[in-house]
Amino acid sequence: MQRHQNYIGKWVPPETGQYYQSHNPACPSQVLGDFPRSGTADVDAAVASAATALAMWRQTQAPQRSAILLRFSQLLLESKNDLARIVTLEQGKALCESIGEVTRAAAEAAFAAGEALRLSGQTFPSERPGFSCYTVLQPVGVVAAITPWNFPVVSPVRKIAPAIACGNTVVLKPASLTPHSAVFLSGLLERAGLPPGVLNLVIGSGECGERLISDPRVRGISFTGSTAVGVRIAEKLAARMAKVQLELGGKNPAIVLECDDLDGAAQEIVAAAFLCSGQRCTALSRVIVDQSQADQLCQRLVTHMEKIRVGNGLDPQNTMGPLVSRQQLETVTGYVRKGLAEPSSLIVGGRQLAVDPDREGYFYAPTLFDHVSPTSALAQEEIFGPVLPIIRVRNAEEAFDVANGTRYGLAASLFTGNRHLVDQFVERVESGMVHINHGTSSQPHVPFGGVKDSGQGAFSIGPTSKEAFTNVKTVYIKW
Ligand code: NAP
Ligand code: MG
Repeated sequence: MQRHQNYIGKWVPPETGQYYQSHNPACPSQVLGDFPRSGTADVDAAVASAATALAMWRQTQAPQRSAILLRFSQLLLESKNDLARIVTLEQGKALCESIGEVTRAAAEAAFAAGEALRLSGQTFPSERPGFSCYTVLQPVGVVAAITPWNFPVVSPVRKIAPAIACGNTVVLKPASLTPHSAVFLSGLLERAGLPPGVLNLVIGSGECGERLISDPRVRGISFTGSTAVGVRIAEKLAARMAKVQLELGGKNPAIVLECDDLDGAAQEIVAAAFLCSGQRCTALSRVIVDQSQADQLCQRLVTHMEKIRVGNGLDPQNTMGPLVSRQQLETVTGYVRKGLAEPSSLIVGGRQLAVDPDREGYFYAPTLFDHVSPTSALAQEEIFGPVLPIIRVRNAEEAFDVANGTRYGLAASLFTGNRHLVDQFVERVESGMVHINHGTSSQPHVPFGGVKDSGQGAFSIGPTSKEAFTNVKTVYIKW
């Protein structure tokens, strides 16, 4: 059994001397490795290491920072298969999805490498003679990156790469369920030539995250995870005016109105709803359909859901893996129970799957409910599992009201042949990202984020990402 370490200037065992085991969700009796159960001293050491490296790293020329990130991107591609296997083992998703995740992370790292060369300010004409006025972008300082388990590669890379491109140093606290991917990523950054102390990895529970955000030396935090923890972080950081970027939950609607390709719509919706077993912040998690097309759409959704093959993600024939943990399985089971207690009708699924009875993996059947009330828990709360409710509406007006009727605002899709509805949807839907006639897939160089309870701060990915990891400084020079 391999025993893994923290990376704090170098690979080091935790000060606590304690480790925990991580498990394969497809086969929970399989132990994947021992990982540090870090404590406050480890977090403090990681912040100290990042603070020490900051002076050197912020003065490292941008093209040099860029070159290291490009090498990192290349190494990600070269080790794609090894890293993808780790992702599937500890997270559960189908291997093809894991390979896609690593490829995506490589593209985002390459974009961030370019951004290091685009850290440009603005010049301004002066009101007074003999003055120059301009702005420069400077690093925020030590940045904390706290990441969830659903995208154990993309999520850390989406924070680390732009942060170090902008001259910050980083402490990464990955999700406890998926530490191995973070260890692998740290190793690749080391191999890419990143100087010691620029990235620090501290593995441990949410309490380590709490300690990290409480440290006054941490001047910025980029967090992806639940809204509950995100709000807590925002409150804490407001007290000392540190910078925050929060990427939180979603309850993303797929609206179907006057659609002339219901089969195409159903195919897109099923993919976007059930990838990663529905454990994606941008998963389509509500279908809002005009009653005139509801029966036909429902039938087609079932047809596409029946093609999903649930099983161990390492078997290339399987297209959907297990849920990540027993806790996640219990959450999903609890929501389905609530759905069954309502007047809504269960169409397919609604049960745990014994894919391999000897192994007791956390597999759950793709599940569809119809006639769901827009105010029910199934329609309001983020389930983060393979459960899709259909809400029937009478017209576009009602569809948009229902779409806006949750606390979230991350991504939304509209499937329609009516151009006028597209304009209304883009204008009216309260959502950080909107998609027309396709699921909620994003691209590696285009801003990504949410409104309402789905996020705060600069959008990640793309050119907006720099805003999270730099401060503007205005310069006046009198000659
Ligand atoms: P979570 O419980 O909020 O955890 C996220 C991270 O925060 C983990 O590393 C966790 O550590 C850490 N953490 C927990 N309590 C903390 C605290 N008090 N202070 C600081 N850090 C703390 O979320 P999750 O269960 O891992 O992930 C699922 C959620 O993430 C869903 O709601 C989903 O929508 C959201 N998500 C959003 C996006 C997006 O881009 N918008 C992307 C992915 C996921 P431990 O793992 O050790 O508990
Ligand atoms: Mg959690």
